[in-house]
Amino acid sequence: MNFDWNRTEVLALAKESCTQCQGHGLRRSSRKGPESPCNCVLRGIFKACYARFRYCASKEKHISTVRLEQVGGKDRRMTWGRKDEEFIADFCLVSRRALDDEEYRIFKFHYLLGADWKLCCRRLNMDRGNFFHSVYRIQQKLGRVFRELEPYALFPLDEYFGGTIRKELSGEYKNLAVMPMPSKRRGLMPPLRKVA
Ligand SMILES: [Zn+2]
Repeated sequence: MNFDWNRTEVLALAKESCTQCQGHGLRRSSRKGPESPCNCVLRGIFKACYARFRYCASKEKHISTVRLEQVGGKDRRMTWGRKDEEFIADFCLVSRRALDDEEYRIFKFHYLLGADWKLCCRRLNMDRGNFFHSVYRIQQKLGRVFRELEPYALFPLDEYFGGTIRKELSGEYKNLAVMPMPSKRRGLMPPLRKVA
């Protein structure tokens, strides 16, 4: 897939201490090959999406997720949407599709069911090294898919959740604009367990 990775975006996501890209976010697999996003960027995307997934899932239990969305076009009107639910569903479905069976088992135990590495290793009969190796691979694979997904990427999150006019959508969803999240939403994030 020839996805056009934006340099500025990649730079902002890159890990400063990364030994592979030195914090630039792009690297070449061969000297003349095309530049591609560094693994630290892909993992960063995954982690941001996973944090939002957990946030949506925890909110889901307590408060209603119905949000008011504006439907554009000739007659502007408001409609009710369920963006959080949509995100939770997208996160799960996209991951199921992108991962192979073995990867998905690890993903399910570790990320969806919240088992820590010790429990995962015991349950999946893996050693620690292999487990974390797989986790890294899963994060990188999903980070890329979440960003490159067509027509609606899960990342950037503010585009998924906020104010983007969705012109390409057909039928009843045409010109659907989603109400932006409150700007202080970061402050509302619950403490998240540190993930590998
Ligand atoms: Zn890097």
